[in-house]
Amino acid sequence: MDTLKELYKIGYGPSSSHTMGPQFASKRFLERNEKADRFVVELYGSLALTGKGHLTDEIIYQTLGRDRTEVKFRVDINYDYHPNGMKLFAYLDNKLIDEELVFSVGGGTLKHLDEPRETSHKSYYKQRSMKEILEYCEKGKITLLEYILECEDSDILDYIEEIVKVMFNSIERGLKKTGALPGPLKIERRAHNIYKKYLENKDFNSLVFAATLAVSEENASGGLIVTSPTCGASGVMPGVMYAYHNIYGYSIEEICKAVLVGGLIGNLVKHNASISGAEVGCQGEVGTACSMTAAAIAYLEGGTNYHIEYAAEIALEHHLGMTCDPVLGYVQIPCIERNALSARRAIDSAKFAILTDGKHYITLDDVVKSLKETGKDLHENYRETSLGGLAKIKLPTYEENEN
Ligand code: SF4
Repeated sequence: MDTLKELYKIGYGPSSSHTMGPQFASKRFLERNEKADRFVVELYGSLALTGKGHLTDEIIYQTLGRDRTEVKFRVDINYDYHPNGMKLFAYLDNKLIDEELVFSVGGGTLKHLDEPRETSHKSYYKQRSMKEILEYCEKGKITLLEYILECEDSDILDYIEEIVKVMFNSIERGLKKTGALPGPLKIERRAHNIYKKYLENKDFNSLVFAATLAVSEENASGGLIVTSPTCGASGVMPGVMYAYHNIYGYSIEEICKAVLVGGLIGNLVKHNASISGAEVGCQGEVGTACSMTAAAIAYLEGGTNYHIEYAAEIALEHHLGMTCDPVLGYVQIPCIERNALSARRAIDSAKFAILTDGKHYITLDDVVKSLKETGKDLHENYRETSLGGLAKIKLPTYEENEN
């Protein structure tokens, strides 16, 4: 498995696969084609179907130059390798000088057709499943955190400190903002008003909801956030950690360690199944975020390695089958509210696990395997295509003529 630096990435919302990945691909393509005077970018599969609502074309125009770039939504083309395919063409004096087919496979990660999906350039983690990791830790009498620190580069704690800083900054920005989110749905931001209620009632849940919504609203408006593990699911981990820091007084150092422990879970899902909504539905995005956060809480609350595994397992198990059907293709409904509700579920999963002796029947590895299989069985209408489910509902706030 890859380093956690590949899982937690800083970037602009609203979607790691539909905004961040295409942005990284365009930037890289531009760097090697500085002389080009025209670009054409074709978007395939899910990128073509929901790219408009996810601002994919916008980030490509911003990166390659609006006046010399054409973005084509080719809904007629879809690759089996991954539903988020895109092909970039560079021209000079009307002559094609370069082309690149690339896939945005989730969490901002890019792959080519000839690259195996499951491997990375360097294997930071030799163990490939939670079972192997738990056995390794048991043998060496180490905690999951110690295991992570053993596998990662020596600067990982500094990296995560920066990650937590960006997470908390996105909360503090989002808590201050009011008004409607960008796009034709005219969804009103809610974090600010819930935060005002928290200031009166000082209730833990109110802060969890406000902080989680704040990140998700920032993400929906193209703000700077951290993929945890994706943009669409970026609210859960920061929202809960912010409340644990501010209400229960956990230090930033402890929060960083908890975020690392949660990251291990995200890494396992990313490498053994998928964290891409276009591939496996929302179970892979918000489900994974909930599982990562449950593990982080179990760590903070003093759980053993087995409690942490159980907390992550419970949280993921009860998201199995969750579809991805964002209304009109915008990462707003159901995404924003779903982050807030999953934050609460992460807390409950951890609390439940800690009350037990850590023994249980279904393992995290079993659930990750089921997630992958369930994702494959999900009809494509429910895998970030906005062709089915909630995506078809026309809201009263919808303004047809916009965009
Ligand atoms: S429904 Fe879930 S997977 Fe789909 S765009 Fe929203 S957050 Fe991402």
